This record gives sequence, C-alpha cells and structure tokens, in this order.
Amino acid sequence: MDYKKLAELLFADIKKTPQDYEAEYPKRGLSEGALVTRLAPSPTGFIHLGNLYGALVDERLAHQGGGVCYLRIEDTDEKREVEGAVPVLLDVLSYFGIEFDEGACKADKPGCRPSSVEPSAGETGAYGPYWQSMRSEIYKACVKQLVAEGKAYPCFMSEEEIAAIREEQSANKIDPGIYGKYAKHRDLSFEEVEQRIKEGQPWVVRFRSEGDPSRYFTAKDAIRGDLSMPENIQDVVILKKNDLPTYHFAHVVDDHFMRTDIVVRGEEWMASLPIHVQLFEAMGWELPLYCHTTSLMKIDEATGQKRKLSKRKDPELGLSFYKELGYFPEAVREYLMTILCSDFEEWRIANPETDYNEFVFSPEKMSDSGTLFDINKLNDVSKDVLARKSAEEIYDFMLGWAKEFDQEKYALIAENRDMLLKVFDIDRGGEKPRKDLVYAQQIFAFIKYFFDETFEYESEWPAEVSAEDRKEILRRYIEGYDPADDNSAWFEKIRGITADLGYAVKPKDHKKNPDSYKGHVGHVSGVIRIAITGRANSPDLWTIQQIMGQKMVKARIERAANA
Ligand code: GLU
Repeated sequence: MDYKKLAELLFADIKKTPQDYEAEYPKRGLSEGALVTRLAPSPTGFIHLGNLYGALVDERLAHQGGGVCYLRIEDTDEKREVEGAVPVLLDVLSYFGIEFDEGACKADKPGCRPSSVEPSAGETGAYGPYWQSMRSEIYKACVKQLVAEGKAYPCFMSEEEIAAIREEQSANKIDPGIYGKYAKHRDLSFEEVEQRIKEGQPWVVRFRSEGDPSRYFTAKDAIRGDLSMPENIQDVVILKKNDLPTYHFAHVVDDHFMRTDIVVRGEEWMASLPIHVQLFEAMGWELPLYCHTTSLMKIDEATGQKRKLSKRKDPELGLSFYKELGYFPEAVREYLMTILCSDFEEWRIANPETDYNEFVFSPEKMSDSGTLFDINKLNDVSKDVLARKSAEEIYDFMLGWAKEFDQEKYALIAENRDMLLKVFDIDRGGEKPRKDLVYAQQIFAFIKYFFDETFEYESEWPAEVSAEDRKEILRRYIEGYDPADDNSAWFEKIRGITADLGYAVKPKDHKKNPDSYKGHVGHVSGVIRIAITGRANSPDLWTIQQIMGQKMVKARIERAANA
C-alpha cells in the first residue's frame, strides 16, 4: 500500500506539515524551573469546583516558578457546547483569583484577538488558536503524517456495524472495541478507499495500534511517580467525521505545540494514558509530565459512605453556589489548598499572616486517593480568613456581593457604611478575634438586628422571667439608660434592677438557693439582650448599643415592653 498516496487522497488540501508547525510554535525558552501549564475545559456552561481545583494547581505550578498558565477551550464536542460559556468561565475563575497569561480571554481584554467561535470572547498569546474548533488544519496536518507513515487509516464503519460488533463481543465476553480482527477497515486497499470516498461514504481516521497488552510502558505522574500500564490495543478514532479530533488526539497535538510541561487533569483520564503515550510516540514527540488529580469526594449524608460529588445531587459542586452565598474567594481558595496539599494546613498554622502564594506547592504532596470535600471545614477556614480581614475589606465585599445578588440588602449596606464598619470591628484584632463571620449571606443574617427593616425576635424570652417582670425590667432599664455610662457602670445598673426585682446578682447564688430567687442576672440581662437584638446570644451588648445609638436602643426597648 502506498500510504503517501492515501494521505494525499484524504488530505489533498492540507499543505503544511507538523515540521512547519514546529517552526511556528517554537519551544518557549523559559528559564529553568519555569513551567507551562494549562486549563482545558469544555465549554459546557457548568463551572464546578473541580475546574477551580485543577486551575489552582495549574496556576500555582506555573506562577510559583515564573512560568505560563494558559486557557485552552476544548470545544470539539458540539453537542456539549453552550454559547457564552467562556466569558462566564473567565469571570468565575477570575472571581476566585485565577488569571491566565495567555489563551482564551474576554473580548474586552486588551490585546484580545476575536475568536470566530464566540463573539464575546477571543484569545491572546503566540501559541494559538486556543479554541480547538479553530485548529482543524493543525490536527489534519498531523493526521496526514500518521496516514502517510501507515500509522493511521480511514475507517468507514457505520454506527450500526460498530454496535453489532459490540454486541457480538459482549455476548462472547470479549473485550469491547475496535481492535485486531474487529478493526475491519485497517487494511482496505487504496482502490477500495477511493471508491468509498467517491460514493460519498463518511469516514473517520483511526490510529493503527501496534500495542501488545503483555507489554508495559511507564510514564511519569507528578503525584504518583512512575506509572506502569499495559499498552493500548484499540484502534481509537483520532479524527472525527466533522474534521475535528477526539480528545485523545487533540490533547497530544495541542499540549505538544503549545509546549505544555505539565498536564494537570482529572484522574478519570488516567485510563486513557496508554492511548496518549502511543500517540506521542507515533508523532515522535516527548511526553509531558502528567498530574492526574483525584476526584472530589464527600461523605454521603444518607449512607455515611464516601462518594464523588455529583452535579445532580450536590449544589456545592457548582462554583456559582459559593458566589451566590458570598464566600470570600480567598476562603474557597485557601480551603482548596488545604485539601489539595497535605502540608498546607501545617504551613498556614506556622505562617498565619503570610500570603498563600508564598507556600511552595509540590505535587508529591497531593493526595492520590480521593480528596474529601467538607463544607464545615470550608466554613472553619473561612472564619479564619475573615478574622484576618479589616472591617473595610469585609464591608466592601458585602457591598459588592449585595449589589449583585440582593438589592434590598444592598440599599441597607450602602446607606449604613459608618455603622457597619463599627459592627465589623467588634472584637476584631487582638489575640483572640471573634470568628463568627463565614460568608456574606450568613454575615448579613448575623448582623441583621442593626436594621429596623430586618430586625425580628429570634429567641424565646427567658422562662424564669414573668411577662410582668419583663415589662418592669425594660421600664427601669430605659429609665436609667445613659449612653455615656462605660461598660461597668452600665452593668452595675442591670445588677441594681436584678436585686430590686428579686433575682440573684450572682448566678451561683441562684443555683445554691433556687427557691430564694426568681432567676439570676443572666435572665434579666437576657431580656434586655433579646429586646435589643432579638437574640439570646450576641457579641458584647454594651458595644452593640454604642453602635446603634440611643434612639434605636430606646425604640427597641419600648417595642419589647409593649409587645
Ligand atoms: N476537556 C477535558 C475535560 O474537561 C480536559 C482534560 C484535560 O485537561 O486534558 O475534562
């Protein structure tokens, strides 16, 4: 068979060769240790925690050594594509602090060349196009070379034929797929191919595998070290009917010509590694280093078993979940670092104030057996992160969040800046800062009693205090209230009311002689606290009243007294 002639027959219009592209996309010549990484999502419109998880690895590996992290759009599967997905992806990743040095970008980015795929997006950088659907010529040049060398061939099998083969294999309990004698078009003659093409039969290109399952190859994985796997025997499709490559071939061609050093991708791709290694070899190219990240798992509430996070069952898989609730991006990133690297948490404890970018990320410290995602742990990390923020930072974040997601809250936050700065400053700084702020929606719920519009009674009045006493406590309290009192003068007055009405000033006296008292000072101050905040628990009440001002305090007490 004259393979060169076959290649010309199939790809007459392809004039460039892989060698031409070698020259067009030269090695990057970065300094020693500067790595090239990439995020390669499919534009399905669903941006999930796994994307961010991978992006964080890409970003850290590249940027900690002065390398390049680029964004490639894997849009070869027309069925899965959603228009407008890329600008949204860029926005969400940027919200979480991931910026790319080159590749797909939003049309308004300086230097962004328009993409023919999506008008609101384009690309920057010298190794493009970064949209796979625009790279058909490059893939075809590479496929043409493989055909010319006898390493790939056109296959005309219909879907029905393939389905019949699978059925036969399954009935006989044989490994499924197109290989060996099932690869029926492996050795069609030139004339037969020519005839079928003349008849307009659709074709794909398959790789001609010379693999032997008893032979093993090795490839390097940054997390697991050397991987040893049996060779691939399948004649996989490398070029589809629509002139676009399959994932396998696109990965090999793109990561070669875009000069990727480390391929960070989900471990679900590990099973295809034998195919990829074979394709790299067939093209005569060096393998990149792989970094197969483990899946995000959670403990299923119903079964108590570990399972993968699922799009259908777990809203927390989508990144919009965190944005809408108003998690600080830094908190989510910091939490992901904690579950990504076994040594991050320890580093953070030793370096509580240091920017997380100073942490040296090493893939060997990543898990190879499933990463457990736990939202409670995220919340704990978030509390620590927020405890390090200034009141201004929290205020600005709350304002931005409310502007996007809740107009009513936005108005309240925007109109009460001075007050909120004081609220966010309660017990901030110092040795033991309060850690009760987690995410914007929760923070707003936590401080909502500062606004008459959102104030409500959320706790029960203490049972030890009768309705009559409650009124009397509140009456006396407001009579004696003086905002000029310091914390101890203020509390002294509460003690006075306590004793006058027959409650114990010291809780332990009440405990010792429960019959001699109606209750104790905690119950009396509880009434005042609920009257003012609607809650039995709050930060320091004296400070809260100082922030609220006399008018609001008085109005709250009167409202409760008349309730
Ligand atoms: N488009 C593939 C995916 O979204 C990318 C895998 C890779 O990073 O190579 O899973």
